[in-house]
Amino acid sequence: MRLAGLHHVTMITGDAQENVRFYADLLGLRFVKKTVNFDAPEAYHLYFGDEQGTPGSILTWFEFPGAARGRAGIGMIHVLQLGVPGADSLDFWAARLGDAVTGRDERSLRFADPDGLALELVAADDGNPPLRASNPDVPAEHAITGLEGARAYSAYAPVEEGVLTQVLGFEHLGRGEYRLQGSERHFHWAYDPAPHVAGRQGAGTVHHIAWSSRDDEQLAWRERIADADGYVSDVRDRDYFRSIYFREPRGVLFEIATDGPGFALDEDPEHLGEALKLPSQHEHLRDQ
Ligand code: ZN
Repeated sequence: MRLAGLHHVTMITGDAQENVRFYADLLGLRFVKKTVNFDAPEAYHLYFGDEQGTPGSILTWFEFPGAARGRAGIGMIHVLQLGVPGADSLDFWAARLGDAVTGRDERSLRFADPDGLALELVAADDGNPPLRASNPDVPAEHAITGLEGARAYSAYAPVEEGVLTQVLGFEHLGRGEYRLQGSERHFHWAYDPAPHVAGRQGAGTVHHIAWSSRDDEQLAWRERIADADGYVSDVRDRDYFRSIYFREPRGVLFEIATDGPGFALDEDPEHLGEALKLPSQHEHLRDQ
């Protein structure tokens, strides 16, 4: 049994409009789905990804309007790495991102979104098949190709974490750097020493990261995590996939989501993201 790779990463934004402008209009991702937080239906939940909303390409946000900016601390992801086809594309993006750029070297371009979330474009030339959206302002040869990696803060020495390697199947490359080889794509996961201030969940922070499981293996994953590490949530139905949640030992909230049924469940693939889709238990709140 192997995880199929990354499924999605979920963040918090204080302003859904700005978020859509940045990720759909500027970065050129597809706005795949507009729904609500199933556990807190007064909050919007926005999904962006490639043209089909393929696992491995998906970034999602809960909107809490006007939320104060948060700050990444121990047990929180502090940067997400998005692929571009090669180092040549970094010039295109440096020009397009303008003031949002915070740093640059030969292989990467660092920038921040309107909520202050740190992002990095990296040359994705080590084998991941591209997961692209089409956008009239972004030539296909420079389009973002999906998620390549994420880095979190840890309070512990960068020794091998057994829950990652023995339970979840990550490979420890040494010094807190890991690689998850999925069925088609791989993902780079790493820990950095934490800053000496407490983290605070808020706008511009990552809420959780989700790994992808075959639909028929999720319960086996749940059992394996319960045996090894104790707490894991029961299975939650997210309509587009089913999810379980647990904290890995360094504190990062992990989810394991099923591949199916996917975002075309309640919308034609041509029209993904156009209507506000509500889970049936919250449909009576549509006017609100
Ligand atoms: Zn999730």
